[in-house]
Amino acid sequence: MQGRKEEGADESPPPTGNKKMTVNRLLVHLRKYFRIIFIVLILFLLCLPQTALLQTTSIEHICVGTDYETPVYIIKTNYEKPVIMIVSGTHGNEKAGIKATEHLKENIKIERGTLIIILRANILACEKNVRNFPQDINLNRAYPGDLEGNPVEKLAYEIFNLMKKYDIDLLIDLHESIEFYKNNPKNYGQTLVIDSDDDYYLFNFSSSIVKELNKGIIEDSNEYQVLVDPVKGSTAYSAYYQLGIPSLTFETCRKLPLSFRIDEHLRFLKIVLYKWNILKE
Ligand SMILES: [Zn+2]
Repeated sequence: MQGRKEEGADESPPPTGNKKMTVNRLLVHLRKYFRIIFIVLILFLLCLPQTALLQTTSIEHICVGTDYETPVYIIKTNYEKPVIMIVSGTHGNEKAGIKATEHLKENIKIERGTLIIILRANILACEKNVRNFPQDINLNRAYPGDLEGNPVEKLAYEIFNLMKKYDIDLLIDLHESIEFYKNNPKNYGQTLVIDSDDDYYLFNFSSSIVKELNKGIIEDSNEYQVLVDPVKGSTAYSAYYQLGIPSLTFETCRKLPLSFRIDEHLRFLKIVLYKWNILKE
């Protein structure tokens, strides 16, 4: 009996003309809806890269509650790597790096990655416009710092900890010197200092930066050179030898006009950020 019923069901009459038209109309509507859904999907996919470029800035502080409390600016995109830390104001009277970093912080639009910016590392030295504060303690010889030490050692400890906390991929430390290295090798004016001469990547990277910097230099005496000079206790030395982070210390000469030096620090920073694809053409 069941078999017969099924046979009967199969013998349903063919669709009439009206039914055919209804089915066709339905198919036309469906095609239209699918087309709209397809276009919306394509537009959504096109918007995705822009969503990934969203830039945010947040601020945290180190040495909270002490005289050395200073802000740290975190500028990032949804694509958080690579992470580059820029330190200026380690020495308070080396203004060009501080001014350039401040300008960068206010104006930069990054394409990817994260920038960790410490604008005035030794904020008291910056406020008093002196190299070190206290005068006899150099922050750039205090790394990796000491939580139980003097205030400058505590400051170095907190900056060193930030490098670990943010898992940084590159450290940039900005400085200025009172004399050209070429005139007196005790001073570092117009150099890019690295901490090892047998690091193939670091040597080639710094050489390519200097080459590009020198393209924009008119007077030969202002040209830059790569200098290999590991100095124990410096920000770069600690980052490189204790954390394995490639580090660059950039030095302009204070015998040159301040506005020129600020532009040079900015030019240097942008070259590095382009090479690391944080900025794009
Ligand atoms: Zn310095």
